[in-house]
Amino acid sequence: MPNFTAYGHPVLAVACPTCGTAPGFWCRRPSAHMASNLHAARRAEADRVFMEQHGPTAAIIHAASGWLIDPCGRARD
Ligand SMILES: [Zn+2]
Repeated sequence: MPNFTAYGHPVLAVACPTCGTAPGFWCRRPSAHMASNLHAARRAEADRVFMEQHGPTAAIIHAASGWLIDPCGRARD
């Protein structure tokens, strides 16, 4: 089960459907150089899995101690 608080960016918790990068690693360009942004399909996949795990009202927030999951974050916004 992906852990959205384990990495420097929550989207890194899922593998990338576009470039095939494994969880925990930044997206790669076809040239194997690091991409400047994570692929859109990976961001969408992370969103989908996050909501499946934590529910449609959950949000992830960046606190001083790292990433935290707020179960009602989206409901308040
Ligand atoms: Zn990618």
